[in-house]
Amino acid sequence: MTDFSAEFSSKLRASGVVGAGGAGFPAYVKARGRAEYALANAAECEPLLKKDQKILEYFPEKVFDGLEMLMRAVGAGRGILGIKKKHERIIPRLEAIAKNRRNISVLKMGDYYPAGDEHCLVYEATGRIVPPGGIPLDAGCVVSNVETLYNAASPGTPVTEKFITVAGAVKKPSTFRVPVGITWAEAAELAGGFAIKDPAAIDGGPMMGKVMTDFSAPVTRVSAGIIVLPKNHPLILKKTQSRALFSRVGRSACDQCSFCTEFCPRYLLGHDVRPHRVMRSLLFSAGPEHKLNSVYGLLCCECSLCSLYSCPEGLNPREACVSAKADLRAMKTGFKNSPLNSGRAPEVHPVREFRKVPVSKLVRRLGLDDYNKDAPWTEPAYSPARVRILMSQHIGPACVPSVTEGQRVEKGAVVGDVAADQLGCPVHASISGTVRAVNGKYVEITA
Ligand code: SF4
Ligand code: SF4
Repeated sequence: MTDFSAEFSSKLRASGVVGAGGAGFPAYVKARGRAEYALANAAECEPLLKKDQKILEYFPEKVFDGLEMLMRAVGAGRGILGIKKKHERIIPRLEAIAKNRRNISVLKMGDYYPAGDEHCLVYEATGRIVPPGGIPLDAGCVVSNVETLYNAASPGTPVTEKFITVAGAVKKPSTFRVPVGITWAEAAELAGGFAIKDPAAIDGGPMMGKVMTDFSAPVTRVSAGIIVLPKNHPLILKKTQSRALFSRVGRSACDQCSFCTEFCPRYLLGHDVRPHRVMRSLLFSAGPEHKLNSVYGLLCCECSLCSLYSCPEGLNPREACVSAKADLRAMKTGFKNSPLNSGRAPEVHPVREFRKVPVSKLVRRLGLDDYNKDAPWTEPAYSPARVRILMSQHIGPACVPSVTEGQRVEKGAVVGDVAADQLGCPVHASISGTVRAVNGKYVEITA
């Protein structure tokens, strides 16, 4: 590690920079690696979410600054910003900025889902395939989300604000920056308020996000935005199916057509993911027969394409894969000790190009056509009276609170941290005020 990498990564840790696209992987760990390519992931392929586009439209220089710093830290000779070519309004500006930066270029990608999957981006940008069970670093790449790079451009400045999109059934779908720890109800108010009576939301985008009904939950530094929908919207119902239900229906209705596998983005990259085989595991509750089929879910990235687009029967192979992985974990089986770990190099499927799923078709299939509109950038002057800073806002063990009730804290002060030898980084006060509550889950501050 060079002096710059050491200093940069230690500042990233101190300022709490984590993957802001939803993953929450601490950025300092990536900055310690060595890679040939640093990739800025600007694909933002979750339908209706716009925050990365808006960051690139309003603060592009900072994203390139962050990318340059990451390149220097990991020793990358090339930086590539991958964005969908449909963003033709902002691309000329990005290309003009890239021209003035050393060894950085803009990659224009098609509007398909999931272009923002790290493995897909690595392949599109470099022609390399991340090995099965591996990470982009194994293919000489480090990948960072646009907002993560924006934050990384100010190393040492605590992450106290979050860019989010609030879309769907709200009066004014919008994208803005808010203090970490405000409630989603407050965020929805900033987007004009709910446009329906009985709302639910999908936190993190319609494909990979989770259904949320408690709008008093706080915005975290990994939140990307919410899509507000009626509670009885088919997408909400599909995403909240119980294991008992999708297993019972899947077991009786799956005709093994294998469309789920044929469209699976990881299968098309040559990884041995076969959700139609995993569907067979629904016939067995445990034992070798279950394992024989469930191993084909081990490399599933949970993109949801099979459940929300590919399956003509409306079944839920994604959830079958998620459950299969959990069962295998309990049996102490992962990819490395599974029969799929053959050591063979993956080969891209010859028709991959023709099986990319256009986002416009996906939006229609998801029943989101009515909500598919811009969420313009706004700058609401909002000073919350209270914030709740969650102790778990990253991958790794949760932070331990480092403040006590009644204590005065200033914006940017550390309110929780993890031990230096553990994966994770501190969380900070997003407003100045008094600590009102401290527990293992959150620190509450009132202004
Ligand atoms: S696409 Fe649906 S019906 Fe076909 S194999 Fe997959 S889960 Fe079964
Ligand atoms: S969710 Fe389905 S389509 Fe996506 S990676 Fe997993 S098996 Fe493949």
